[in-house]
Amino acid sequence: MDKIDLRSDTVTWPTSRMRQAMMEAEVGDDVYGEDPTVNELERRAAQKFGKEAGLFVASGTMGNIVSIMAHCGRGERAIMGHSAHTHANEAGNPAVLGGIQPWVVPVQPDGTLLLEDIRAGISSDDPHFPRTTLVCVENTQGATGGQPLSAAYIERVGKLCREQGLRLHLDGARIFNAAVAEGTDVATLTAPADSITFCLSKGLCAPAGSVIVGSDEFIYKARRIRKLLGGGMRQAGILAAAGLIALEEMTERLSEDHATARAFAEGLAHIPGVEVQPERVKTNMVFLKLHADSRLDGRMLSKKLEEDNIILRPSGVYHFRAVTHYWIKPAHIDFVLERINRYLA
Ligand SMILES: *Cc1c(COP(=O)(O)O)cnc(C)c1O
Repeated sequence: MDKIDLRSDTVTWPTSRMRQAMMEAEVGDDVYGEDPTVNELERRAAQKFGKEAGLFVASGTMGNIVSIMAHCGRGERAIMGHSAHTHANEAGNPAVLGGIQPWVVPVQPDGTLLLEDIRAGISSDDPHFPRTTLVCVENTQGATGGQPLSAAYIERVGKLCREQGLRLHLDGARIFNAAVAEGTDVATLTAPADSITFCLSKGLCAPAGSVIVGSDEFIYKARRIRKLLGGGMRQAGILAAAGLIALEEMTERLSEDHATARAFAEGLAHIPGVEVQPERVKTNMVFLKLHADSRLDGRMLSKKLEEDNIILRPSGVYHFRAVTHYWIKPAHIDFVLERINRYLA
């Protein structure tokens, strides 16, 4: 990577091992169920999560909408966080494509939804109300800075869902970051969930693709909805080959990205004019804010950094979100800190 791109972990390029595997991948028609590499990826993903089956999809967004539509029929209600990706960042797809009513509850600063808020969103059986069938939880929670949710919390949500006869979908775009931060494995962390979507294309470096895991019955339904949405991809083994490396080799090293994020936040805390809370950096995201009386505003700082080949884009006037990943090494962080210090001091 010739630039130090801190905008997101989605900017990651595939590693050379991935490119090699893609070149050599055995392929077939996946819509016929005949792509051996896709089948292997789905099998290994399911195994890793302790679920019966997996389904390779084009993106995290597709994984979420396929899952939500497999759980909810038209006119049904899905409870989710107000800043959840499924609600805020997927073009309103539950309503647009599924005829599903999102019932939004506040996301707490630690990334959780309060159980009492979830409970209050569950409709009673009355013709006035949409029937509530699903709860969606996001781990790590992006809008709060990549907060990891604990296995104990997911278990409490799962218990509530079981008691109320609801399904639980986990948007685990960065579930491996959560598992590393929580010191557990993804099977334990997601055991109460009926379905999980995770991204191969973020910190795990694959060029594209996500996987949904769940029961055989759920994946059978999900496969039809993937087709409905145009997600049957034929010789997708080319992509799944990179996905297998993402799954097998790239998950454990995420602790390195968490360490660089923490080092970045701690360094920023020493720069005058920057507000940051290093103690909130639990995974690979750093939220920072420039003081209103700082020498530069966000746009100006971003422009200066671009001259140094550092890409960091402001969200709003003074706020930034920086995300660390495979291509960001400790030396890059030192360089970025030195430059930010130079421009703001
Ligand atoms: C990135 C992301 C998605 C969507 O993934 P895409 O592959 O970009 O469609 C869903 N949920 C969360 C929490 C994400 O961060």
